[in-house]
Amino acid sequence: MASRVHVIGAGLAGLSAAVAVAESGRPVAVYEAGQAAGGRCRSYFDRELGCRIDNGNHLVLSGNGAVLGYLRRIGAEQTLIGPGEPLFPFLDRRSGQRWVLRLNRGRVPWWVLDPHRRVPGSRWFDYLGLLAVFGARDGASVAEVLGANRLFRPLFAPLAIAALNTEAEHGSAALFASVVKETLLAGGAACLPLYPREGLSESFVDPALAFLAARGAELFFGRRITRLVVESQRVTALGTTGEAIALGADDQMVLAVPPWIAAELLPGMTVPDQFAPILNIHFRVQADAAPAGFVGIIGGVAEWIFAKKEVVSVTISAANRLVDQPAETIAASVWPDVAAALELSGPMPPYRVVKEKRATFAATPAQNRRRPGPRIGVSNLALAGDWTATGLPGTIEGAIRSGETAARLLMNPV
Ligand SMILES: Cc1cc2nc3c(=O)[nH]c(=O)nc-3n(C[C@H](O)[C@H](O)[C@H](O)COP(=O)(O)OP(=O)(O)OC[C@H]3O[C@@H](n4cnc5c(N)ncnc54)[C@H](O)[C@@H]3O)c2cc1C
Repeated sequence: MASRVHVIGAGLAGLSAAVAVAESGRPVAVYEAGQAAGGRCRSYFDRELGCRIDNGNHLVLSGNGAVLGYLRRIGAEQTLIGPGEPLFPFLDRRSGQRWVLRLNRGRVPWWVLDPHRRVPGSRWFDYLGLLAVFGARDGASVAEVLGANRLFRPLFAPLAIAALNTEAEHGSAALFASVVKETLLAGGAACLPLYPREGLSESFVDPALAFLAARGAELFFGRRITRLVVESQRVTALGTTGEAIALGADDQMVLAVPPWIAAELLPGMTVPDQFAPILNIHFRVQADAAPAGFVGIIGGVAEWIFAKKEVVSVTISAANRLVDQPAETIAASVWPDVAAALELSGPMPPYRVVKEKRATFAATPAQNRRRPGPRIGVSNLALAGDWTATGLPGTIEGAIRSGETAARLLMNPV
């Protein structure tokens, strides 16, 4: 029997690794501690709201090549939708002013010359200021590099917080630069906003599980790996709460668990150890958010508001200041932004506040330096996860790239 690849963790890093292995025709087994796959990117039925919700709104851009490649492979590319144009509507809660940032599709960003396509009151050369992130000194924060630009408050800081899940004052300019390079700098065609038509699981998770099952992959849920037995720089067995799983002589493994679990399983490994929360507040109400399906809020409590099929969902990234407040306080402070942005009247509808306290590693320069590469000196093991050294912040794109890289390194060692 061909040697097997064991994948630990069925978040998007683990799933993308398993998909790559299964696609190559090698046997693969996936072990997930939870009862469902998806990790930090999943949907579930909320009894109180009486509908399915996502743990949090996830937005990707058309420049996220690994995400689109993964969806194509599992037959789910058509499950993402969006406005079909690179446009981003905003509302400034202090002034009440609304605008739509409308990029052009090509690489030459002539849109900055058109006052109707850019932030009100901005000048074309303010946008050029963004290029400063590419020359930033090692260890610089986004605010240090862009803080003096007049677009900092209405555009650069909100984009950086969304991309890094870290306040611009602390977020790494270098990590923000990698996102800018693959999206804004690549032109509007790389900046089409995309989000699931149904839910995260329907786009990113269920089609991957079906793809794996169709190729004979073994999927184990409720199977927490508690220990790695490493002998002569090789993993020889996986400890579980029940019987240990012995690895065959040529078996390999991808460890795709969160960093604090990876550090428990591989003591002594340096990993990111600071995290940032994301809050999502789902209101059981239907609304229209034309023309994009979402609105960015400047100067409010809410940051991004998505109008979905059965709920309106609000995202607040780097939500350290709010995360310990009671759910009702959070919902009440966010609802006025939603009502204003989507022109809703009446009392606040039923809501659900989802607090992801360790949504991503804190994308600071210091934490970025703690990210290990995929190979750590254990011959049959590769690491994956959005927190490994992908060069990107904690994103779906980073998670999927890391999973595919881990699978490739194991199957085609150089
Ligand atoms: C609210 C929220 C909003 C977000 N918004 C965006 C966005 O808009 N755009 C974007 O690109 N990214 C976004 N992200 C980030 C994105 O969700 C993550 O980068 C990605 O899902 C991480 O995937 P992963 O596989 O690396 O980790 P995880 O999803 O954490 O997967 C790890 C898996 O390992 C399992 N596991 C843990 N311990 C064990 C064990 N001992 N044995 C077996 N299994 C184990 C866990 O149960 C989990 O399923 C957001 C994240 C959150 C939380």
